[in-house]
Amino acid sequence: MGVLSSGGGRSLRAPPPRVTPEPLNTDRSDPRGASGAGGADPSRIFSWHSGASAGRGIMSKVEVKTSLLDNMIGLGDMVLLEPLTEDSFIQNLKNRFNHNEIYTYIGSVVISMNPYKSLPIYTADKVEEYRNRNFYELSPHIYALADEAYRSLRDQDKDQCILITGESGAGKTEASKLVMSYVAAVCGKSLEVNKVKEQLLQSNPVLEAFGNAKTVRNDNSSRFGKYMDIEFDFKGDPMGGVISNYLLEKSRVVKQPRGERNFHIFYQLLSGASEEQLKKLKLDRDVSKFNYLSLDSAVVNGVDDAANFRTIMDAMQTVGFTDKEVHSVLVLVVAVLKLGNIRFKSESRVDGYSESQVEDSNDLKEICELLGIKQSVLEKAFSTRTVEAKQEKVSTTLTVAQAYYARDALAKNLYNRLFSWLVTRINESIKVQSTERKKVMGVLDIYGFEIFENNGFEQFIINYCNEKLQQIFIELTLREEQEEYIREGIEWKNIEYFNNAVICDLIENNKKGILAMLDEECLRPGAVSDNTFLDKLSTVYAGHHHFESRRSKNSKFLSDHSLPHDCFRIQHYAGKVLYCVEGFVDKNNDLLYRDLSQAMYEATHTLIKLLFPEGNPKKVNLKRPPTAGFQFRASVGTLMKNLQSKNPNYIRCIKPNDKKATRMFTETLVRHQVRYLGLMENVRVRRAGYAFRQLYTPCLERYKMLCKQTWPHWRGSARYRVETLLTSLQIPKEEFAYGCSKIFIRNPTTLFDLEKKRGE
Ligand code: ATP
Ligand code: MG
Repeated sequence: MGVLSSGGGRSLRAPPPRVTPEPLNTDRSDPRGASGAGGADPSRIFSWHSGASAGRGIMSKVEVKTSLLDNMIGLGDMVLLEPLTEDSFIQNLKNRFNHNEIYTYIGSVVISMNPYKSLPIYTADKVEEYRNRNFYELSPHIYALADEAYRSLRDQDKDQCILITGESGAGKTEASKLVMSYVAAVCGKSLEVNKVKEQLLQSNPVLEAFGNAKTVRNDNSSRFGKYMDIEFDFKGDPMGGVISNYLLEKSRVVKQPRGERNFHIFYQLLSGASEEQLKKLKLDRDVSKFNYLSLDSAVVNGVDDAANFRTIMDAMQTVGFTDKEVHSVLVLVVAVLKLGNIRFKSESRVDGYSESQVEDSNDLKEICELLGIKQSVLEKAFSTRTVEAKQEKVSTTLTVAQAYYARDALAKNLYNRLFSWLVTRINESIKVQSTERKKVMGVLDIYGFEIFENNGFEQFIINYCNEKLQQIFIELTLREEQEEYIREGIEWKNIEYFNNAVICDLIENNKKGILAMLDEECLRPGAVSDNTFLDKLSTVYAGHHHFESRRSKNSKFLSDHSLPHDCFRIQHYAGKVLYCVEGFVDKNNDLLYRDLSQAMYEATHTLIKLLFPEGNPKKVNLKRPPTAGFQFRASVGTLMKNLQSKNPNYIRCIKPNDKKATRMFTETLVRHQVRYLGLMENVRVRRAGYAFRQLYTPCLERYKMLCKQTWPHWRGSARYRVETLLTSLQIPKEEFAYGCSKIFIRNPTTLFDLEKKRGE
């Protein structure tokens, strides 16, 4: 069935090789439209998306409005929404959601609503249905986007990226897997290709086991950002890939918010390991024995940790991990668990000072046995600390609080490095060996914009990443539009839009950006604190349009005593966020006492030695490791460059309610997300030039009856006749632009007026 769609700025597509009983294609850039329109039933051009609407035929403006108020299925493309308001936008989403239409377009962008139930829309038949079909030909679906991207890559040699954003639980990871499985289903099926596909697909459960956790928002929440380049040969068959990971939420290793769990792997190991494995790992199966594992939600409804453990073990094997490597990984997981059980007590020394000592060394002993570390070395590293000042080594004792801090820092670092190693190891397996030129499809599954009650360093970093993504979204969308205009010979007028470069600069400017100032503060000797950092920011950015702090002179905050004193507020593109500065310096520093990294380096266990290269005493290097903020900024910079070199495809995921419930649409929650995802801006940019465009011939076919000169008989080129038609209808000139092959219509209302006239 045909789809009413604006076709937002897509590039020219190759005609599909498959011929099925064809609906008339309204896709403005489909070359078939020019010749193929004649035989089809024009009344189907503007029919509704789903089967329920079959035969509704022509849609008028009045019908659009009614449909938004009635319980109709709603418009498949928001660009044509009229009037366009936040309310009508949300109402349209709701109507569609209530009819299980979870996908809606904004031009070529796919909005995906999480249905929280399994829908029969991902079957092999569906794959066949969407295969080789044009984007706007069928109902909006994630498969349409995947197919479009894949064919563009295969047939037109354009590298693609799929950018998936949305808040926690909105369905990003599921969407990324749907895209991957669609592509796997439609590409080659030789033995060799199937092996690569399996490896690529099976890398998902491995990373999810180590990088996902149950949170209050999502039972399978990704606690890291992921970008995966899938590489294809000239035929479009996958050859391998490369995964990049971003900022694992390592604080979860040592502490979890109420109602949440640690990373899945801990529970999976305890439930699923065989008795023999447990013995080898010196492990007790009982979750309650481990301080790092929360008890209140150790069991997740509908989740079988033991079965998942076996799945992960199989997946690791498929990806190419050796048995020895798998065992090594599990040993480190156990070491982290046991670290959490180490307790410290204060011990008085002969010189009158007191120092921390391990209370009961059984766990420490087992850790040392598992890792091949001398017990005395680790014990010492938990009671003293060597500080290197002016080429001199000074040993200071640790208080009990410092020892706990050091223990947790070690556990977090160990797990974080293990996770990064897993990614590196998977990359080794899926690496493309051949030097032939590759076509690439990148899939980005990254945390969406976050505004919580308490926002800290992590939210700041995540929101910075989203600013960057928004920036390239606008840049690439406008570029795509511009390219089409140039192709069509239409004058390009600058589109007014909010350019968030100013916010990106506020955060990432090399000299004066917030991250640079944080680094400066972290590297400064002397009493460094979150407060001095905030004071500096407040001075430098007093009066900045996007920065506010109560400590700035003339701050609007001054009189607002309900706002905490230790916060700054940033006006992001998606809204204002108040960040509490506590922990910024510490998290950015991300320091691990040198004695601990040296202890790890001394281990005979090869993997742990590998994970702590800075512990090598021969490489004594007084340079500090880069800060967390610096590393993130650098990796986001690389990511942006990578994305910019590709043709973008967007999936914006929305969560309908925060109860993980089916059939529940909480308007306020959806409204927030529509704002944070910048969806209204999205539609605005799409509509800013010409909202609708269509090849001349189908346009003429559809409206020729509105004008005597063009109907019933007409001569001359289609373009000439379309001009005649529009002039005779006295539609204002500025509403149109005549491209080489297409007519461009500025406002959807004009289109609806034409439709209305047609219906009269
Ligand atoms: P996070 O940022 O926390 O990782 P996310 O956006 O990746 O969240 P997902 O893990 O993809 O969210 O989705 C959360 C849950 O919602 C899934 O485990 C699944 O139960 C359900 N879900 C998501 N998308 C779909 C879908 N298309 N069909 C059915 N259920 C879905
Ligand atoms: Mg996820």
